[in-house]
Amino acid sequence: MTAQIIDGKAFAATVRAKVAAHVAGLLASHGIIPGLAVVLVGEDPASQVYVRSKGKMTVEVGMASFEHRLTASTSEADLMALIDDLNKDDTVHGILVQLPLPGHLNANLVINAIDPAKDVDGFHILNVGLLGTGQKSMVPCTPLGSLMLLRDHLGPLAGLEAVVIGRSNIVGKPMAQLLLNDSCTVTLCHSRTRDLPRVVRRADIVVAAVGRAGMVTGDWIKPGATVIDVGINRVAEGGKTRLVGDCDFASCAAVAGAITPVPGGVGPMTIACLLANTVTACCRANGLAEPEGLTP
Ligand code: NDP
Repeated sequence: MTAQIIDGKAFAATVRAKVAAHVAGLLASHGIIPGLAVVLVGEDPASQVYVRSKGKMTVEVGMASFEHRLTASTSEADLMALIDDLNKDDTVHGILVQLPLPGHLNANLVINAIDPAKDVDGFHILNVGLLGTGQKSMVPCTPLGSLMLLRDHLGPLAGLEAVVIGRSNIVGKPMAQLLLNDSCTVTLCHSRTRDLPRVVRRADIVVAAVGRAGMVTGDWIKPGATVIDVGINRVAEGGKTRLVGDCDFASCAAVAGAITPVPGGVGPMTIACLLANTVTACCRANGLAEPEGLTP
């Protein structure tokens, strides 16, 4: 193996420590406690795990955590009424509606009902537009965390060839936008891209956000490239399940200059950036200086 391992777990701990320090300062100097409200509709087991760990980490950095668990049959009107209440609540600085929502609820409608200033997931159409035009916005957590890892490892990214695989609104598109805003030359690939390995081979930076275990193999990687593996895939192995990324770790690590592992790479950065976005939203709401290094 030649690649350096990019330790997202350790970097996420430094981000959370920065958030905790800023939160302590807000309380000491202004008597303000940032608050994050998480709304979970239904009983999806994976979502329940995510919501629990978000709540735990929110409290660990000194912020207030508000959990709202609604039954799977909750009506759109009731969910919208809750969001309206949270929008008006001054103790709530960030609102996150856990996705996916049950099929009878329109996720776009629900997300766009959140006050854009409290949209810590960065999915509101206004924040998407602000990011797309290079203006200050709330930035989706997974791409923001990936960008932080890239900047930490590579320094300024200007001029680098970046290839993002996956064009979801949650990861691929905002990732491409952030890299473009950092003056990379960006190619955004998807399931209809022709000869994907050839396209990926020209990249200095590869971000894989596909959802296909081990799809990207070492022969796709330019020697020395930096590989960010966003994928989280559960594979069965000897009666157990194991988490693997979208990149075949062994073969990619033999060629790349650096690579994020799964688990322990991008995953921990996502929650850390959610906390970062919440403290940033709180500072903006109160007209106070934002913490440095937690926004693009
Ligand atoms: P989506 O399913 O929304 O998007 C997947 C994208 O991959 C689509 O754009 C799709 O193309 C593209 N794709 C699918 N098959 C291929 C293929 N054979 N070749 C090229 N492109 C392909 O997934 P998400 O963006 O939500 O998530 C991607 C991965 O990241 C998942 O494994 C998910 O679990 C993980 N994830 C990890 C997070 C973390 O915290 N680390 C957070 C969020 C997601 P098309 O648009 O043409 O269909």
